[in-house]
Order: sequence, then C-alpha cells, then structure tokens
Amino acid sequence: MRLIRFGTVGQERPGILNNKNQRLDVSTFNEDYNEVFFANDGIERLAHWLGTYENECPIISDDVRLGPPICRPSKIVCVGLNYARHAKESGMDIPKQPVLFMKATSSIVGPNDDLVIPKNSTKTDWEVELAVVIGKKLTYVSERDAMKFVAGYVLHNDYSEREFQLEHGGQWVKGKSADTFAPLGPFLATTEEIQNPNNLRLWLKVNSEHKQDSNTSDMVFKVSYLISYISQYMSLLPGDVISTGTPEGVGLGCKPPQYLKKGDVVELGIDGLGTSHQKVITFL
Ligand code: ZN
Repeated sequence: MRLIRFGTVGQERPGILNNKNQRLDVSTFNEDYNEVFFANDGIERLAHWLGTYENECPIISDDVRLGPPICRPSKIVCVGLNYARHAKESGMDIPKQPVLFMKATSSIVGPNDDLVIPKNSTKTDWEVELAVVIGKKLTYVSERDAMKFVAGYVLHNDYSEREFQLEHGGQWVKGKSADTFAPLGPFLATTEEIQNPNNLRLWLKVNSEHKQDSNTSDMVFKVSYLISYISQYMSLLPGDVISTGTPEGVGLGCKPPQYLKKGDVVELGIDGLGTSHQKVITFL
C-alpha cells in the first residue's frame, strides 16, 4: 500500500495512491497516519477497510498539494557518512560504527513544497536518502528481528546547511533542522511494496543536472543493522523516521563546492518510492 497525506499545510488529511495511481481520500477511515495509527496495526486495518470501501473513496484532484505522508513523528534519527564515497568527498573516514544525529521534526514538509534557504545561509546543500518509518515500538532489538518493526519506506531530502553543520561548533543538528529541510514523500510505501531496501537506485538532480546517482546497496551499514544499532541507544516509536544517509554527489563534494540559490529546482527519486521536487526560495 502507498500512503499519502494531502491538503493545505497543517490541515492534511489521509489518502492512498491506489493500483491505478489514483489518489484516493480515505478521511472516512477516520484516522491520520500518526503514532497511534502505526502502533495499532493501522496499515492492516486500513487495507482491510479499503477492501470494502475503496470504491466509495473520493478521488483527490491532481492540483491538491501533497503533505508529508506521515504525521510529525517523535524523532528523525539520521545516519551520517553511510556511503563510502560520500565519506571520502566530505574529507572524512568511513565510520567504524554508524554516525548518528538528530534532525528537528519541525523541518518536515511535503514532497514538493519550496525549500527555504535559512537566514544567513550561504551553504545550503542537498542529500537524497532512503528513510525508514518505524511501525512498532522497539528497544534493544537484534539485527535478525529488526525488519519486523518497519512500517515502510519514504523518499527524503536531508537538506543541510554546511556552515551551520560544520563551522558553528558542536554537532550537526544546527545544520540539519531549519524549516523545510526535510521534505518527505510523495508517499510511504509499506514493506510489501519494497522487496529489498538495500538494493534501490537513488538519484538527485539540480536544475536538471545529475548530481547524485547511486544505489542503497552501497550503504556501509544496512537497514537492519541500523535499526538494531540505534535501538541500543534509544527506543524507536511507531512513526519515527530513520534516514539512512546519502551517497556521493552533494554540493559540499563538488569542486569547487556548489550550494543552492534562489530559483534552483531540486528533483530526486528512489526506485519504488516515487519522485519529489523542491523549488529554492529565500527566507523573507
Ligand atoms: Zn543525510
């Protein structure tokens, strides 16, 4: 199943993308895609409900905005330097253990919303990433059991302000958390849609020029390992997002470095997870 949310900012309602690629409004199911939904087998219950009511669900017009496909989660846990060539282009070693950092959940926006360059930024950069959405609370889970706790997968652009991230002292959260820095979607693909999350092509273009083109098979640490690893340090709650890191080809790694400016258009995609695009604007 592919879950979407649609409508104006803050007023999003739940929907699905059906097998005919129609967007259907499932508001009458009466639940949004939040922690309670995932924790209480919402995906299975919604699938069952659709078996009876799909034909009665209104079609959403194509001009309606897509929001993030999940409600704001308790946290976004990101993995740094999880592709060897990206670590190299960043001038860092391949980590021996996953590098973890947090991204403020207030940075989440819809997949095609504008990217707002923050105040005083000169180094806003892109990062296409596979994000994992957690389906069940987990703590201290083994790698063997980890995949049982996954609800699905979503396309994520982990926007990053490199000066805030690397030159303002402390750790990376400052460079990762500005408003609009986490476009999610277009949809959440539930686990049966994605046979192997560790073998998906992912790509990103800026102004139609290819910048990133890789495969999740190049990840240093695989999805099951990351889930298990993170759960040794914190509980993951239903709806939480793990973003698994970006491959080479970010602006920081260009020679000379290239950063986003007003008017640029960023497009990205992952096999099976659709595509998104963001127009770059500046903070007013
Ligand atoms: Zn990242």
